Amino acid sequence: MTRLSTVNTKDSPVLIPQKLINKERQDSKLQIDEINTFLESNPEKQSLTHQLIDQIVNDPILQTDTKYYDQTKDQQREITAKKIARLATYMEHDIKTVRAQFRDNDLIKQLQSSSSSSVLPLTNKDISLFDKRLSLVANIDPQLGTRVGVHLGLFGNCIKGNGTDEQIKYWLQTRGAAFIKGIYGCFSMTELGHGSNVAQLQTTATYDSKLDSFVINTPDLTATKWWIGGAAHSATHTVCYARLLVEGKDYGVKTFVVPLRDLETLQLLPGISIGDIGSKMGRDGIDNGWIQFRNVIIPREYMLSRFTKVIPSENGSDKVTVKTQPQLDQISGYSALLSGRVNMVMDSFRFGSKFATIATRYAVGRQQFAPNKNSTELQLIDYPLHQYRVLPQLTIPYLVSPAAFKLMDTYYSTLDELYKVSSSSPANANGLKVVSEKLKNLFIDSASLKATNTWLISTLIDELRQTCGGHGYSQYNAFGKGYDDWVVQCTWEGDNNILSLTSAKSILKKFVDSATKGKFNNSLDEDSFNYLNPKFIMKVFTPSGDSTSIIDDDDLYSYTKIWEVSLVKILAFIGKSIERSRDVDSVSKLLVMVSKFHAIHSMLKTYHNKLTNNDPHDKSFINDQYTQETMWNIYKLFSIYFIDKHSGEFQQFKILTPNDISKIIQPKLLELLPKLRKDCIALTDSFKLPDAMINAPIGYYDGDIYHNYFNEVVKNNPVEKDGAGIAPYHKILSDMLTRGFEFDAKLGGSSNKDILSMLNK
Ligand SMILES: Cc1cc2nc3c(=O)[nH]c(=O)nc-3n(C[C@H](O)[C@H](O)[C@H](O)COP(=O)(O)OP(=O)(O)OC[C@H]3O[C@@H](n4cnc5c(N)ncnc54)[C@H](O)[C@@H]3O)c2cc1C
Repeated sequence: MTRLSTVNTKDSPVLIPQKLINKERQDSKLQIDEINTFLESNPEKQSLTHQLIDQIVNDPILQTDTKYYDQTKDQQREITAKKIARLATYMEHDIKTVRAQFRDNDLIKQLQSSSSSSVLPLTNKDISLFDKRLSLVANIDPQLGTRVGVHLGLFGNCIKGNGTDEQIKYWLQTRGAAFIKGIYGCFSMTELGHGSNVAQLQTTATYDSKLDSFVINTPDLTATKWWIGGAAHSATHTVCYARLLVEGKDYGVKTFVVPLRDLETLQLLPGISIGDIGSKMGRDGIDNGWIQFRNVIIPREYMLSRFTKVIPSENGSDKVTVKTQPQLDQISGYSALLSGRVNMVMDSFRFGSKFATIATRYAVGRQQFAPNKNSTELQLIDYPLHQYRVLPQLTIPYLVSPAAFKLMDTYYSTLDELYKVSSSSPANANGLKVVSEKLKNLFIDSASLKATNTWLISTLIDELRQTCGGHGYSQYNAFGKGYDDWVVQCTWEGDNNILSLTSAKSILKKFVDSATKGKFNNSLDEDSFNYLNPKFIMKVFTPSGDSTSIIDDDDLYSYTKIWEVSLVKILAFIGKSIERSRDVDSVSKLLVMVSKFHAIHSMLKTYHNKLTNNDPHDKSFINDQYTQETMWNIYKLFSIYFIDKHSGEFQQFKILTPNDISKIIQPKLLELLPKLRKDCIALTDSFKLPDAMINAPIGYYDGDIYHNYFNEVVKNNPVEKDGAGIAPYHKILSDMLTRGFEFDAKLGGSSNKDILSMLNK
């Protein structure tokens, strides 16, 4: 890297951060390759991750550097569009790679040809490679990830979740949406007046039997579709959530594909009004817009009809029939949002790793204050307070990773099962029942993990920003835009509080069934809800039982079990409170906590199972003993840190006493911090994030914090550009400094005796 500074700090007697960071690397005995395999799930996924990262950061169009932080909204929109066009070519390439089909035929053309029956339709596996690429791109450039994610993840998955097999093939293959070709989709659920409460959306889709078509309308201002990603400039089509009205009867909110723009000119079609949402807190590269529909006519076939069908009248009889499959209709309606939630848990792992790496490297390289005149200044990380602020945050991505990979696998296997059973003819009633239970569990887990982890990472970004002092506030060090881009994850695709309430209410129902009726489905519930097994609940409330089991180093599961005990006790308290008050809202604060505790429990349990090699499908790949011990210390610190954070609730629900907190929990916390401090650089190197992905000079691998940061500041703000410090608006400043006495003279002069005498009184 060229050095823009002429001041030589390389041989400075005091500030040589790269030496400090390299020394930590040399002193650590951790096997970072083994840890990276653990974090990337297994050797195959690990190798793929690194191949994709290597391609992304070296791609001339996709690569992102610190210039990114200075771009205007319009520049961001245009650059994002260029990157989407680039990703579209990768998409075709990735599908051909998975199918191993590059020679002698045009696979994409064949998939698009409606007459082609010799080529198998696209499956989740076919797009898995591109999905992974997109997830990694989103880590470098979140707005790009979202802009493509809205088209593929929301538009595409809404069609996949709600469309018939023919509709899926038509929109995704024949029309080309699955290859980002032919059409570009957006997702119109939210309205100006309603977001979370989807059942109350007001846009209407009225069936006209004469035209055998739907007429889409925005009945009033509050029904305007709002926030719609891609609507302002790019989308040619949308999936629109609208009330199905047939012969005066309201069948509730269903989904419809509505064309918005001419495919060639991108001009709006008749009856469509669209505007730009304008500047946002972050992710300005996404063209969010608003949409109104005025008597827009679409064919009946554009209603997504896997679970609800409108069957026109036959042979002159005027009875129109609406057929629904109630078991799956409602749950599948929201399935488009599932993939986003699952991906946000994976994003939490990757964003958490990035900011933990920046702050840890800075904490090791930065020195402040010397204990006495003759010693050098201490590294920040050697202050116990700084260890407490940085190291527990570093454990978060470690604990999120196994849960994120597991959730992703469950998502794919459950959806595959759903497509299979819902396409079978005759209908497989038992299969439908099982898959709908699995979907419900997936909703609970994904909702609570999405909400809890996106909250954890919001806190992590800001807390770690503060640990980097003033340099953390510089846009070039990633925290500012990172935070602004991140926090919307707490709101979209299910607001975190709403998601937490929904998942906790389902957990409460399972608890009541188990505690009062002994109902517990071992095969479906043992994995995520083992703490709701009636035998365990009984044990928690048996005075001699092990309900008060406190953490115990000879029993590593105890660090997970304490959360199981607390969940049971809090759920029992909530159950009793509702019995008395008959008011669920009165305990909603506690319900949100249940969802958080459920997510923390899931992460600890999954990590524990992986590290002990308990799960045959999820091995740890850690063989070195010292590395394994350190990985256990991470697990312990995560559990202890959050017990301490929630010590009020742990005492309120009599899981721990004040004495336990001060004699066991807090000493344990203080004992673990220095143990992890020893290896903190190796623990961040284990994420194996290249500098191009970190994009924050105070956190680069070589640890040359000051040169790297200075270089980026000067590169983006060249001194000569302003004529050596002379601003374009310099005249305003010089006029102010050289102003005369005219203003004063008009007031009667500074020697206005009346005023002076008043002031002196
Ligand atoms: C940048 C951005 C992009 C977006 N892109 C899209 C898109 O492409 N397509 C799309 O359809 N939508 C999109 N959205 C909309 C997003 O999904 C909604 O904003 C989100 O679902 C929340 O809905 P809302 O804004 O109406 O909040 P509200 O539902 O009004 O909630 C406001 C607050 O009230 C609380 N609250 C609401 N009800 C209750 C209750 N019963 N109990 C307790 N608390 C309650 C919520 O927790 C929240 O804190 C986007 C939003 C943003 C910010």
